[in-house]
Amino acid sequence: SCVPDRANLCSNLSLATTTVQNHSTSSNIDFSFRKLTLDGYLSFDNIHHAAKDFGNTYHLHPLAVLYPKSVFDISSTIKHIFHMGSASQLTVAARGHGHSLQGQAQADQGVVVNMMSLREPVMQVHTDGSPYVDVSGGELWVEVLKETLKHGLTPKSWTDYLHLTVGGTLSNAGISGQAFLHGPQINNVYQLEVVTGKGDVVTCSEKQNADLFYGVLGGLGQFGIITRARISLKPAPKMVKWIRVLYSEFSKFSKDQEHLISLENSFDYIEGFVIINRTGILNKWRSFFNPKDPLGASQFNWDGKIYYCLEMAKYFNPEDTNIMNEKTESLLSKLSFIPSTRFQTDVSYFNFLERVHMSDKKLRKGVWDVAHPWLNLLIPKSKISDFAREVFGKIIKDSSNGLILIYPVNKWKWNMNTSFVAPNEDIFYLVGFLTSAVPASTGTDGLEYIITRNQRILDFCTRANLGTKQYLPHYSTQKEWQAHFGPKWELFVQRKYAYDPLAILAPGQRIFQKSI
Ligand code: FAD
Repeated sequence: SCVPDRANLCSNLSLATTTVQNHSTSSNIDFSFRKLTLDGYLSFDNIHHAAKDFGNTYHLHPLAVLYPKSVFDISSTIKHIFHMGSASQLTVAARGHGHSLQGQAQADQGVVVNMMSLREPVMQVHTDGSPYVDVSGGELWVEVLKETLKHGLTPKSWTDYLHLTVGGTLSNAGISGQAFLHGPQINNVYQLEVVTGKGDVVTCSEKQNADLFYGVLGGLGQFGIITRARISLKPAPKMVKWIRVLYSEFSKFSKDQEHLISLENSFDYIEGFVIINRTGILNKWRSFFNPKDPLGASQFNWDGKIYYCLEMAKYFNPEDTNIMNEKTESLLSKLSFIPSTRFQTDVSYFNFLERVHMSDKKLRKGVWDVAHPWLNLLIPKSKISDFAREVFGKIIKDSSNGLILIYPVNKWKWNMNTSFVAPNEDIFYLVGFLTSAVPASTGTDGLEYIITRNQRILDFCTRANLGTKQYLPHYSTQKEWQAHFGPKWELFVQRKYAYDPLAILAPGQRIFQKSI
């Protein structure tokens, strides 16, 4: 619980609808900012994009947007606000690529830092010993991939979509089909440079300022702005065998997923998704994947049931094709999927990692600008069947209009010293309901219906005591945040007090409120 002098920091939160008021008027603030000497600039006009994100349901306008050219710009701006103390209600939000879902990168009448304009350090790949790359916190992961591939190297752990910034995903976790093997992206970082909520520029790692290092990783932007990250690398493969197979029984599907993530020498990527009421998907796959058994696939009777798709990838170089094929066949021979539903293709490593962006190009032609009431949950292995039965079988049934991701990871591969919180079991599943709302619809594809449905899922998890955690968490009261962090809450509050005592940073997460 909170100690008295942290009372303001820990005060109960209402949803942020505040505006700059009382102590200082916005024109005073505007004037005082104009005295700052910056390498980049602060804009009071070009600010509207900063009130929008991928979720498209929260629209909080900042007072100004900082376009930093240097770390110094970020540090000076935060110091300036810090020294105003409680005379101002100004807050600061780093904005990566704005792919948050509920305004997490927004700052109501505060300053948004446009991290993508921070062009330093220039990316530098170090190939000796344990290779790594130093990148700006505002760099997109796709650019990191392009640069490291020039040296035959690659980061180990990814997100499904690469047009997210390094600082944005490291503030959450960065989870994809490699996380069962390498842990999430936050476990594959050697060092960070961070600007704290007091404006101090601090280098941190496991050995140096470790408390800040672990706090910032998965720390939802609460303790500092990541301005540089040193990311560990490994040799990059040239090619990927990408395979999808279907199951009609959840128990067989999850058993096979768990089996694959338990092996020493398994696939390099393992994910899965649920297909509800999506007749015709096999026809779509045919344009991209090749059926292993064309006749069987063409005769497959799509009867509108729920299917579970296991998605796997094996990395290889062309000279090792035969060995890779043998290994792949051996792994697949132990699985219980429906034989005629095996689809596969060989693609370049780059195209495999960019796969979502390729379909995203189509997405942008219409559905990108709609609301995205996504829900991401982490479910303990022992409860995943209960979850599937109730949620896929009853709550979702025929109302699904988006992708439902589902795959397990090994917690022992994850460093739990970070701020990230996971369920209390060795294996847990990531389940993502990636739904788009159809504008103005009052039906099952409308925003209101989907939000209610998400709430039903959350209510079920609580009622059935499943021990789930939200990923990319979103809460409206501090009590819920406290429950989310559980035993880590006390440390989280201590770190906030140490590194951002005025609660200036990342107000859009709605965990702490700036004390005035
Ligand atoms: P923003 O939305 O700009 O910021 C997110 C939060 O981080 C904010 O609180 C912000 O203040 C803070 N922040 C941003 N930059 C910094 C920084 N440099 N230092 C400190 N704090 C900072 N996540 C996964 O794990 N796996 C996936 O496969 C995945 N796929 C996705 C696909 C799509 C299409 C979308 C929209 C999201 C996906 N996500 C995934 C979620 C994504 O990782 C988070 O939303 C992430 O925060 C987005 O990065 P961003 O650069 O857009 O961050």
